[in-house]
Amino acid sequence: MYDFMNFIEDLVKYPKMEDIKPAIAKLEDYFHIGKIVIKSQEDLENYTYVFDDNLIEEPYMTFSHSNYDYLFYKKNDNYNFTEREKKEVLYVLRYLGIHNYISMMNANAEKGQFISANTKLPNIHGFMKKVNELTGRIDFKKYNSYFINIKGFGLVNNLFGTEQADKAIIQYANRLEAFANDDEIIGHLGGDNFIALIKRDRHKKFVDIVTMCPIKIENDGLKKTVNLIGVLGYYEIEMQKPDYGDLISNASMACQYARSNKKIIVKLTPEISEMLISAKKIENTFKEELEKGNFVVYYQPKFDIKSGKIIGVEALSRWISKGNVVPPGVFVPILERNGEIVNLDLFVLNNLCSDIHNYRNQGFRIVPASCNLSRRDFEDPNLEEKVINIIKNYNVRTEDIVIEVTETTNLEEKERLARFINTMNENGILTSIDDFGTGYSSLSVLRDFKVSEIKIDRSFINREELNDSDEIIIGSIIDMAKRLNIDVICEGVETKAQAEFLIGLGCNHAQGYLYSKPVPKLEFEAMMQRIGTVWD
Ligand code: C2E
Ligand code: MG
Ligand code: MG
Repeated sequence: MYDFMNFIEDLVKYPKMEDIKPAIAKLEDYFHIGKIVIKSQEDLENYTYVFDDNLIEEPYMTFSHSNYDYLFYKKNDNYNFTEREKKEVLYVLRYLGIHNYISMMNANAEKGQFISANTKLPNIHGFMKKVNELTGRIDFKKYNSYFINIKGFGLVNNLFGTEQADKAIIQYANRLEAFANDDEIIGHLGGDNFIALIKRDRHKKFVDIVTMCPIKIENDGLKKTVNLIGVLGYYEIEMQKPDYGDLISNASMACQYARSNKKIIVKLTPEISEMLISAKKIENTFKEELEKGNFVVYYQPKFDIKSGKIIGVEALSRWISKGNVVPPGVFVPILERNGEIVNLDLFVLNNLCSDIHNYRNQGFRIVPASCNLSRRDFEDPNLEEKVINIIKNYNVRTEDIVIEVTETTNLEEKERLARFINTMNENGILTSIDDFGTGYSSLSVLRDFKVSEIKIDRSFINREELNDSDEIIIGSIIDMAKRLNIDVICEGVETKAQAEFLIGLGCNHAQGYLYSKPVPKLEFEAMMQRIGTVWD
């Protein structure tokens, strides 16, 4: 009988992925698997094994390993895996992963490619090799694996040129390397991405190094110190002998989550991996989820720092998936990619207008309420008309609505954005530049676009200590906006000290966790009644 162990033995014999096919074919009866899709995450290769075309749509199980996604499909809907079969399928996946990894290793060993050319640190293959060498020597349960991406590194490239940026990466790599002990590993995946294996009891120290790394840059003959901030995703290893691929893929998932939700450090939790896995599906199921009412609107009030009253509110979308409240950082990028985002944004505007309409009927004094438009929305030539129609439909006063947009450097996009803002102005609808200061064209934006508000990005204020140069930068943005008669609000205010710092610079409006997180509609209503708005 051809059984599971034969299969494993067969697998190890085949040097190339394609050659595994016969082994998988024999597996068919045993595992009741309809189809296995093996997809490299770089989309370089895509192997599909089809045994049965009569498949259900959703994969029975998906599994990411080293650079590959394995999607297993059941033969038909009615077949239920036994517990034993489930376990065995998992084993198969694991072995496929390891096999796949070994063949990659072999291929690279031949070429001698274990080291990143720029930093001389181990690359992904070198990293895996070192992990292999440490196996048996260390107890992985006492370690964390990390994925690090340097925040805003594109800016360093842009401001100082590639040569200086490369030198910056080398200095950053050297700092990390100097920190690591013999039983720890630092790897460089290329670009501004690093991976690491560090002992858990040194986590805090490692975070300090990664998140605040002063490096020297030469600009116009002058030496400057620039602080590089690494965004960290990490995974607390649970097994004494973990899957090698998991070390990187789990940490990378956490880093991806951190980046898209603008966080500096994120630990991988079951909730986060669940969110990221289900987010992959939203690409195809968005319409259905929207219709089912699984997208909801949360409200985050904007405050007057001095009086503590509510001066405005922002509508932010949330996806309720399997009991998790999924933040937009997870699904917005996916909807931006497939072009569905405009439907979400108009849905949010629709909800917002409906709520304002009801509040007015209930006798609330309304504060201006904003919603976000994505850059891709502007590809719709009828966007203006759609926005205006929604506002009119609910009989909402145009001055009660603020549309938040983000800066762009692309000339064509700029012209489209200017047209949109002009049309909004002509119709009395307010506009705001969100995340102000994160693009490269910031100051000219104030001249080119006649917006009514700018929202200073939270990365300016959301620091443990604010220094003189922060004061100069934030202060001049505020001054300039004031002179142009544009309202300024600062987002991401988390501490009293940050609020006071803003008052000192003449900015009286803030949004942030210090005052309130985004909350469900009912909580917002209660807050309006409890705290009151500027109109009271
Ligand atoms: P944003 O428009 O800049 O919204 C502010 C984000 O900052 C919100 O994240 C909010 O929860 C977070 N935030 C507020 N105060 C603080 C604070 O004190 N500290 C920190 N660390 N964060 C704070 P959220 O809701 O996760 O939204 C993230 C981004 O997703 C939004 O950034 C917006 O650009 C986008 N987004 C949200 N909803 C929608 C939507 O319906 N359509 C589109 N196109 N984008 C949306
Ligand atoms: Mg916003
Ligand atoms: Mg913002």
